Amino acid sequence: MNDLQGLRAVVTGGASGIGLATARLLAERGAEVAVLDLDPGELPPPLRGFTADVADDDSVRTAVAAAAEALGGIDLLVNNAGIGAAGTVADNDDAQWHRVLDVNVLGVVRTTRAALPHLRRSALSRPGATAAIVNTCSIAATAGLPQRALYSASKGAVLSLTLAMAADHVREGIRVNCVNPGTVDTPWVGRLLDAADDPAAERAALSARQPTGRLVSAEEVAAAIAHLASPAAASTTGTALAVDGGMHGLRLRPV
Ligand code: NAD
Repeated sequence: MNDLQGLRAVVTGGASGIGLATARLLAERGAEVAVLDLDPGELPPPLRGFTADVADDDSVRTAVAAAAEALGGIDLLVNNAGIGAAGTVADNDDAQWHRVLDVNVLGVVRTTRAALPHLRRSALSRPGATAAIVNTCSIAATAGLPQRALYSASKGAVLSLTLAMAADHVREGIRVNCVNPGTVDTPWVGRLLDAADDPAAERAALSARQPTGRLVSAEEVAAAIAHLASPAAASTTGTALAVDGGMHGLRLRPV
């Protein structure tokens, strides 16, 4: 499938997990891809890495400008960088709230703000086509998960932002959607499992709690993101696509 041929994509948090799977899939489908990450590390070719901290506006502006220059523009933006937080509303102090909201919510705002002029140019230069933004949100935005107050609030804001941004930019030819992953088998979840007394038993128990009996793969989330970014989704904007093994639709809890 070369449905993204000639398109230029920026993926934040693209050095690991969902972001890396997305960057690879977009490239496989023909896009030129720039990965923005705290630590891009050794990326598989043809992915190009740019160091950026989405919690730092200067860093984001510099990296988006460098990526746009290297790619010759930006048609697709995947706002995927994010961090987790556990606990009830009483368990996280103000500094933790500020930190997670800074990365998960303002990170989306900063990268979008820096990329918007490029996305507008993309839409104007390709009559009839749309530029696209896809945000990595979470089932936590809508599910009422226990022990995830701060993380859920951050992803609830990403969901609301997705809808507001979709409304603001639809007439400019920029579509905005998000994916709501469930429990995805990424290094992030691996780190949580590794912290358990018996990681293998914890993994088996976590898998058994999923409606499908297994974790979601990063590639499955990447496929949803690639679809929402692609011309095949030209009439889709302001939506959240669940990739959660049925967790939300079936009203089941992951923990
Ligand atoms: P991951 O930890 O494997 O990868 C996250 C990447 O983001 C890393 O490469 C990291 O360096 C980068 N990153 C973190 N903070 C950053 C910052 N300030 N600036 C730039 N880059 C930064 O995580 P993942 O599981 O692939 O998660 C990716 C996204 O998916 C996150 O937004 C997360 O909230 C969301 N998500 C994950 C799951 C899951 O179960 N794994 C479920 C729902 C939503």
